Amino acid sequence: MVGCARRSMTTSTTPQRISILGATGSIGLNTLDLIGRMPDRYAIEAVTANGNAVALAELARKHGAKFAVVADPDAYEDLKAALAGSGIAAGAGPEALVEAATRPADRVMAAIVGAAGLAPTLAAVRRGTTILLANKECLVTAGDLFMSSARQSGACVLPVDSEHSAIFQALDPTQKKDIERVTLTASGGPFRTWPIERLTDACPEEAVRHPNWSMGAKISVDSATMMNKGLELIEAHHLFDIEPDRLDVLVHPESIVHGFVAYRDGSVVAQLSEPDMRTPIAYSLAWPERVEAPTPRLDLAELGKLTFEKPDYERFPALGLAIRAMEAGGGAATVLNAANEIGVNLFLQKRIRFPDIAQIVEDVLEKQILEGFGEPASLEDALAIDRWGRDVARTVIPERLERTG
Ligand code: NDP
Repeated sequence: MVGCARRSMTTSTTPQRISILGATGSIGLNTLDLIGRMPDRYAIEAVTANGNAVALAELARKHGAKFAVVADPDAYEDLKAALAGSGIAAGAGPEALVEAATRPADRVMAAIVGAAGLAPTLAAVRRGTTILLANKECLVTAGDLFMSSARQSGACVLPVDSEHSAIFQALDPTQKKDIERVTLTASGGPFRTWPIERLTDACPEEAVRHPNWSMGAKISVDSATMMNKGLELIEAHHLFDIEPDRLDVLVHPESIVHGFVAYRDGSVVAQLSEPDMRTPIAYSLAWPERVEAPTPRLDLAELGKLTFEKPDYERFPALGLAIRAMEAGGGAATVLNAANEIGVNLFLQKRIRFPDIAQIVEDVLEKQILEGFGEPASLEDALAIDRWGRDVARTVIPERLERTG
């Protein structure tokens, strides 16, 4: 893992300062839940949200943050009013978001959803701090740029996604040449057992009702389409520097085994835990140490058995599309992510049907082949390709809806 091998155990008795980008979201709140239980160990530097000013101000007050930022400038007045008399500085807009990400903190939790998190997270990477990376879309949108920036600055990038946390714990970097396969498990989402015809009628309320995990709306829909697992393969490819043909996915409905590494002597090393994000978040907060997490304990005798099955690429074509984009390289993954964000938003607004999400992504990927975008070499490059993907997605939607009726 980039930059992380050089870190040693903490010896300081002063609390570590943590900034949380996306503090009002599912990952942000779970992180604050853990931090609130360990006041001697952690203190909050900055917290950010998009437009949820009142909730952000409450969190900032409760956890004694020094700086609170809303990305949406229209929410600034509400934030200022809600922080009045607290002594906490308020900010708004993209520059303030970057300021929050680059304030002196020991670790930055990157938990904004979507490519919107790329600019502030990359700024934190360039500062050389330790990044706790939940916002996988950063690596999907600009993986090479992100990881090479970390190499240059010395930033340590620690995974928060449960599957990547599992691989990080199972993968011995000194034995990289001995790795045969790296496998990410997938719950299969709420539609795992649905026949293909029924998926046309799947509604957002059903899609966000995940069987095992409690998450934000976007990642829940991504889990339902299995695009999430595709984004995670791309994330793993960049984080662990593993070639696409050595990465695979196994459906595991119980979400107990999160990932495993198979070595050439036949050994398979896995990580297991109950599906509660506070376990991988706690691991990333404390690494290389471990801290207490208030999560349910695994009881394998009680569970009795664990089951595994192959992914179904016909019912869940988004997974295959993400693999295609990963193998194609260049800007394909940037475009895939942009089109998917547009598709998921429209589905959540009930303007398109569930299968349309993958169809739109496929149409945009086809058009991307003609453009042949190279790997984004700068933030501006990545954002321009991302914008192209969003614009094309918006143009293919009417065509696609007309064809499918
Ligand atoms: P949520 O939707 O619950 O929260 C998203 C956070 O980002 C909120 O604080 C939101 O603020 C903020 N935000 C949204 N849009 C913007 C924007 N345009 N600019 C700045 N901030 C913005 O998401 P999750 O916590 O579920 O997921 C966050 C990231 O972590 C995603 O990349 C996801 O894939 C990843 N992840 C999540 C897991 C989970 O269990 N939830 C598991 C593994 C990875 P506001 O409240 O104001 O809208």
